[in-house]
Amino acid sequence: MPIATTNPATGQVLKTYDAMPAEEIDAAIERADLAYRQLRGTTVEQRGRWLTAAADLLEADRDATARLMTTEMGKTYAAAKAEVTKCATACRFYAANAAAFLADEPADAPAVKATRAFVRYQPIGPVLAVMPWNFPLWQVLRFAAPALMAGNTGLLKHASNVPQTALLLEDLFRRAGFPEGAFTTLLVGSDAVDRILSDPRVRAATLTGSERAGRSIAQIAGRELKKTVLELGGSDPFVVMPSADLDRAAEVATTARCQNNGQSCIAAKRFIVHTDVFDAFAERFAANMSALRVGDPMDDATDVGPLASEGGRDEIHAQVRDAVDRGATVLCGGEPPAGPGWYYPPTVVTDLTPQMRMWGEEVFGPVAGLYRVSSYDEAIEVANGTNFGLGSNAWTRDPDEQERFATDLDAGNVFVNGMTTSFPELPFGGVRNSGYGRELSALGMREFCNTKTVWVGEGAASAGAGAHAE
Ligand code: NAP
Repeated sequence: MPIATTNPATGQVLKTYDAMPAEEIDAAIERADLAYRQLRGTTVEQRGRWLTAAADLLEADRDATARLMTTEMGKTYAAAKAEVTKCATACRFYAANAAAFLADEPADAPAVKATRAFVRYQPIGPVLAVMPWNFPLWQVLRFAAPALMAGNTGLLKHASNVPQTALLLEDLFRRAGFPEGAFTTLLVGSDAVDRILSDPRVRAATLTGSERAGRSIAQIAGRELKKTVLELGGSDPFVVMPSADLDRAAEVATTARCQNNGQSCIAAKRFIVHTDVFDAFAERFAANMSALRVGDPMDDATDVGPLASEGGRDEIHAQVRDAVDRGATVLCGGEPPAGPGWYYPPTVVTDLTPQMRMWGEEVFGPVAGLYRVSSYDEAIEVANGTNFGLGSNAWTRDPDEQERFATDLDAGNVFVNGMTTSFPELPFGGVRNSGYGRELSALGMREFCNTKTVWVGEGAASAGAGAHAE
């Protein structure tokens, strides 16, 4: 894949970059390692001041950064501005809470025959971050903010279609005051990942991306015995039960499917509706989807901009065609418009069967699958019937059902009467083929920490460490 900015609204290539040669990659890893030695000796308060400065810079530069993201990957300008603000909020959250998240945790010393016993969280070194283009600022920030606050350093291999946003991120942390090498952007293709992750100075990796990339990185990390966090794809269920507020559910369903032009890992993708309310929901949902305005992502009136790439647009159209060819029904949308730009209309497809690609694959664009079920148990069976397990949504006003959904949906999160989203305060991640590990909250920070057990005895003569050494 060329490293280039191509405007998805026009198809025009605006800027291209050569991939970094091997010597430059090695030099960047060396700087990241040196910066780690420096950073781990700084106080959490100092790192917090730098991260707060990064938040200030993000807010000050919000509009220009948002324009760049829209130009590189097509999200609406309004959504891009909101993304910048969310990143600043996450930086402030970690600046404020890192001291508590990293504080020593006392243990029951008498139970382990110690005078003192506790857990200490310490950084582990340079971490490679392989990141996707769909939230080009947020995906990186939600790794970088906790990682830098913990005293690690970051090496970013961003998606090849967002090189300018990638460079902006390196510049952001430098301008905020972090030491040279604390956060470095490597303009490289995915073929360089093996070399980087194999380097002994690089201690771990985090990937947000496809299953295919996840398998590849996990394989390299397995060979090299390195820790990974994998945030992969999803095909989130959105279950609507008879007691649901249908107007609200249909409104949120439309946003949940089409936010970010339909290109979100936690977008609701499969709408599983009880037969008692199926027709009423389908009518409202298809009407809402048809009413969305597709067009220039810089225009404030636009709801849905272009897809990020021509290949991505072709892929979702192939998935829709496959379903239609095998007997599915299109309630709205389904045909890409003529003309420049990689647009695709909000689409609802129903009468799906397990033989169709849409049944089990992730659909990464504004296309909803609508499924009719006749009981709670069938809803759970269909909802859990893919290999993914990222987010999930359930709409019901019945308190017993709310409890049961929370337990029975096989996913990293369950949102009841709302759409899946991420908050710095809550852990985020998946199960099954959606990956492993968690981002955000205290858990996200500790993924790249050494959880060190410290045991202190009275002295050489005590029945402490010697007696129980392993
Ligand atoms: P992708 O192809 O996997 O790309 C993501 C990143 O991985 C890019 O930097 C890409 O580099 C790199 N990459 C691709 N193949 C690789 C390989 N074999 N080895 C090492 N690195 C590799 O993903 P995408 O299709 O662009 O992005 C959308 C996917 O990301 C969807 O499946 C979506 O659900 C998922 N996603 C998950 C989350 C989450 O939190 N769980 C969040 C957002 C997106 P190049 O650009 O150079 O190919």
